Amino acid sequence: MTGAWTLGIESTAHTLSFGLVDSKGTPTPASSSTVRPDEGGIHPRQAADHHKDAAALLFDQLLKQNQLIHSDIGAVAYSQGPGLGPCLRVGAAIARGLSSRLEVPLIGVNHCVAHIEIGRQQCGCQDPILLYVSGGNTQVIAHLDGRYRVLGETLDIGIGNMLDKFARGQGIPFPGGPVIEKLASQWLAENTGASLDGLELPFAVRGMDLAFSGVMTAAQRLLDNGAELGAVCWSLQEHAFAACVEIAERALAHTGKNELLLGGGVACNNRLREMCTLMSEERGATSHAPPRMFCIDNGSMIALLGHIELNHGRTTTYEQSAVDQYLRTDQTPVTWAV
Ligand code: AMP
Ligand code: MG
Repeated sequence: MTGAWTLGIESTAHTLSFGLVDSKGTPTPASSSTVRPDEGGIHPRQAADHHKDAAALLFDQLLKQNQLIHSDIGAVAYSQGPGLGPCLRVGAAIARGLSSRLEVPLIGVNHCVAHIEIGRQQCGCQDPILLYVSGGNTQVIAHLDGRYRVLGETLDIGIGNMLDKFARGQGIPFPGGPVIEKLASQWLAENTGASLDGLELPFAVRGMDLAFSGVMTAAQRLLDNGAELGAVCWSLQEHAFAACVEIAERALAHTGKNELLLGGGVACNNRLREMCTLMSEERGATSHAPPRMFCIDNGSMIALLGHIELNHGRTTTYEQSAVDQYLRTDQTPVTWAV
């Protein structure tokens, strides 16, 4: 008898994570490790080496924390893309090895679609507009005709990368997003009735798309001109998040959908969550955000999508198992009910 659990392996970028769902698709907390460079951004090869070194321990930890043995695993899913090539290849190699050794099906899945499905499951929403805000990706997505379609997205860098890069300029190590959130809320608490006068930044909206690199440079310039770091962090969040919320609102209006779902690591941010709730309430829609452990990159969401795809008859042969760094959200057929 094959095992009832589906294993998910996430390795698109900074994080290697192993997660599980049971036979009903219920996830357990993942076992993860994130590379934290001493200086500079994430180097794909160094991150891949980190993933290779961390893998055995994380996998054992996951089995131990769930009191499982190898034969409890009935399928192995992995992130096939999009992401950093060297990192993706480590995850895919581990997945192929485990699938072959355990003699269970292999399922390569789309990382972005996995964010959507874990969000839909955790928040109980049906047919949402997804605001997907992570390190490398920033997209507004809606389901139409058997695909998740991208209605708007960043034209340059992901919002998380922008926050991390701005923070790095101030000596704040990766991930900078949570530190910016803390500095902004501390500054706001000390400056009640704060105004954006003198703290204006360019607006990132370009039609239905977004662009963040100019916002980051302008924020840096505010600091160069003597503005306080906390004030600039606050202004940066207000401007960047308002731009995302604006295109998400337009997506709700155009499609007539009435649920907004947040996903990706930046969706951990309380101010962004609050802005999404305010906008949604104003137009009679609802806003949803999954628990934070399922917003950041995690193996559980990969396991969940693998479980769904397997139940709809899709598996990945060895020949089909190569990674695709540039895999798009709308390249993956959605064969399950939305
Ligand atoms: P992901 O690529 O989805 O794993 O998300 C990682 C990104 O989320 C990094 O760029 C982090 O800086 C960002 N992030 C995590 N927590 C927060 C937060 N509370 N506020 C803003 N950004 C965050
Ligand atoms: Mg992600």
